Amino acid sequence: MTAVRPAELIAVASLNGDEQTKTFENCIKCTVCTVYCPVAKANPEYPGSKQCGPDGERLRLKSPEFFDDVLKLCTNCKRCETACPSGVRIGDIIASARGKHGRKPLSLTTARDFVLSHTDLFGSLATPFAPIVNKLTEQSLVKKAMHHTIQVHDHKSLPKYSHGTFRRWYKKHVADQSQYRRQISYFHGCYVNYNDHSVGQNFIRVMNAMNIGVQLLEREKCCGVPLIANGFHAKAKKNAELNVSQLEKALESRSESVISTSSTCAFTLQEEYPHVLDVDNQKVADKVHLFSRFMFGEWREGNIPKMKPLNKRIVYHTPCHLERSGDHIFTIELLKMIPGLEVQVLDSECCGLAGTYGYKRENYDVSMKIGHGLFEKIDHSQADLAVSDCETCRWQIEENTGLSCVHPLSLIVEALE
Ligand code: SF4
Ligand code: SF4
Repeated sequence: MTAVRPAELIAVASLNGDEQTKTFENCIKCTVCTVYCPVAKANPEYPGSKQCGPDGERLRLKSPEFFDDVLKLCTNCKRCETACPSGVRIGDIIASARGKHGRKPLSLTTARDFVLSHTDLFGSLATPFAPIVNKLTEQSLVKKAMHHTIQVHDHKSLPKYSHGTFRRWYKKHVADQSQYRRQISYFHGCYVNYNDHSVGQNFIRVMNAMNIGVQLLEREKCCGVPLIANGFHAKAKKNAELNVSQLEKALESRSESVISTSSTCAFTLQEEYPHVLDVDNQKVADKVHLFSRFMFGEWREGNIPKMKPLNKRIVYHTPCHLERSGDHIFTIELLKMIPGLEVQVLDSECCGLAGTYGYKRENYDVSMKIGHGLFEKIDHSQADLAVSDCETCRWQIEENTGLSCVHPLSLIVEALE
């Protein structure tokens, strides 16, 4: 299916990282970005998108001395970019500046940022001992200790690990996928690999019901988004280079596309690699899709599995990065195509967690303030379930509302005959 992207994304898509930062020259100083910035609304200490983005960049180009640590308060949600009428990549400018000029002094909070962002390392260490690790991290004594030492807020629960990785499960349990005439590759991401295999299992079930085989990439690293958010840009770049080479390899073989079930992984592979990490993904970017974009194209052309009515009412929450890419319309349309499903689309707003941001003791109150309106709307919705494509949005919604929050694929699997 032909890519549908917001116009400003297309206009600047061919620019490299350095050229991207120059998009600040298009700023007409309207301050719309700051009005839409959820952090500026919730935290008076944050100067806002315009000042940290285009205004700050002019100064930083004169001298890196003008770099201000306050930039670490930006959640990288990109809501400013969605709002900007001039196509200024404000979030990218801020993220790149943090990578270029931000320092990581030796401290307990740097150690915390390292633990929260190196998902492959800690996922590989934790999954063999998942039952013990999960039990330990839910103990209030352990939470208190983390609160006072590495400053992970004790009101937060760390995500649970699965016992073993998704890749191991795939090798052992998935019947030969190459029997299908059509093949796609699956970028499963860290969350599916280490925390919740069910999203990946549901994806394979739905693809097979549409007569499409699912291959994993030969190798896959964390897409890099938690590393970017925590200032480990060099490591994120290394991951990006490996992932791009793996995507190229998969697309050169039998796979017609590479699909992600996580809105943030898909956005990072498509947009953050060239614009924040300066990694050329031009050969693959148009073939990497969020599951719903790919499936909507298939369903529209008649490759739609048989589904029974679900008779449920759900509220859909649009993740920030999905709003930015414009691909949320595909998920919403897919959900509406499930028979018997009543879909209420919530006003698009940030849930406040922003990956690892809301776990940090210093950000917790702001994170809750940002998400408050969304939590209230979900609690008053009288829906049976909340639905979102982003794993961290789902954690935040489940932790702060009375509803379970599921990935759209779990509803499609439930509807399969
Ligand atoms: S919304 Fe865009 S044009 Fe307006 S101030 Fe912000 S960056 Fe500049
Ligand atoms: S990326 Fe989000 S938090 Fe950062 S300046 Fe833009 S709107 Fe504000």
